Amino acid sequence: MSQPPEGQVLHAWYGLPGEIVIEHDYWHLVRVGAVSLPHPPLVNLFIRRGLPVEERRRLSYWHEFGHLQTLPLALLHGLWLVWPGSARVRSWPERLTRLAAILLAHEALWELLSESYVVWKVGPTAYRRLYRTHPNPWLRGFWVGMALLALVGSWLARGRPRVVGQERRR
Ligand SMILES: [Zn+2]
Repeated sequence: MSQPPEGQVLHAWYGLPGEIVIEHDYWHLVRVGAVSLPHPPLVNLFIRRGLPVEERRRLSYWHEFGHLQTLPLALLHGLWLVWPGSARVRSWPERLTRLAAILLAHEALWELLSESYVVWKVGPTAYRRLYRTHPNPWLRGFWVGMALLALVGSWLARGRPRVVGQERRR
């Protein structure tokens, strides 16, 4: 399979230019325009364990690029989470819990979106075959865990759905 264009500028579908370098298993560099975001790859580190080095790099690359490709969706979700009036919190502990829930839900959904982009990019059959040949103990946990975090985090951030007119008048 062809190798991704590492270190070259690639444009996301909405025009954002990005450059990705998979330095090694423990260090990735994403450059968006003039902004450099070097970081240790948490998700890629765990869910690429056991894959041949070429596949590890390839899937890691598309995962990072997936973050750029799915950024608009992740932002929309983030906006929906922080939308004023979506949850009524008054005390500081409530506010901090809500902030943590927003960050977790946003991050978890973005990871799911990026990895879904990887599946789409390499093809669902090839993706499944690759992980069947090289089983990874973290993969299932990643999909289930992130989905749960995204759901529970969103629920905590938005609060329980309220029925209009149900609130008590003072
Ligand atoms: Zn990621």
